[in-house]
Amino acid sequence: MTTKIFTNYNALSQQTADEVIALVNEKPTAVICFASGSTPVGACEWLVKKVNGQKIDFSQCSFIGLDEWVGIQKENTGSCHYFQYHYLLTPLNISASQVILFDAMAVDLEEQCKQMDKAIAAEGGIDLMIVGIGMNGHIGFNEPGVDFNLLSHIINLDETTQLVGQKYFAGATKLAQGITLGLGHLMNTKKVILIANGIKKARVIKQMTEERVTQKIPATILHTHKNSFIFLDKEAASLL
Ligand code: PGA
Repeated sequence: MTTKIFTNYNALSQQTADEVIALVNEKPTAVICFASGSTPVGACEWLVKKVNGQKIDFSQCSFIGLDEWVGIQKENTGSCHYFQYHYLLTPLNISASQVILFDAMAVDLEEQCKQMDKAIAAEGGIDLMIVGIGMNGHIGFNEPGVDFNLLSHIINLDETTQLVGQKYFAGATKLAQGITLGLGHLMNTKKVILIANGIKKARVIKQMTEERVTQKIPATILHTHKNSFIFLDKEAASLL
């Protein structure tokens, strides 16, 4: 796990976008998983800006969704589905056939998990995951205590996630469960970049970097990934 500290959020976001572009230039059929959330917004914006300027060809890439709130409609502006289309897929002109997202309104969520795992296997695995970190150390919805070997699964959301998650929604929203790629997927992914910015993430970043691998802080799994990076701004790195 390699830690890189950037002067500010803008620099961190720009470098994250550059990582995606470098991958797609090298491997036009790249399979990419981009987290939703506040942290990746800057990277998405930079990516769209740079791709338009440099005419990068994403037409053979695939995009995999990291997670979704169970029971939240995809049209809801707080859904991960909405984020993916709003910040990434629509601005990059990605066609629906290149996108695999969880349908968290499906009657059979277990089937959604199976389909996702099958789709990722059929793609030959994920090349690059760009993920954030929750205040409780989660990645996607891999909450504290999660089994590190899981692939896609449905999970009861931690209290912190239910509370912090309110920030994405227009009004108070019941968030009880999530559907998510598992840490098994993360370990199988060729390159993982965790991004974090702001002083509010400083404590969890200190914990994840200084603690040994523990289920209490799922992001510590990155210590065991051979090609993993953490990109931080100065504030998120301030307790290191
Ligand atoms: P954030 O979420 O980017 O909105 O801080 C991160 C996460 O919960 O994984």
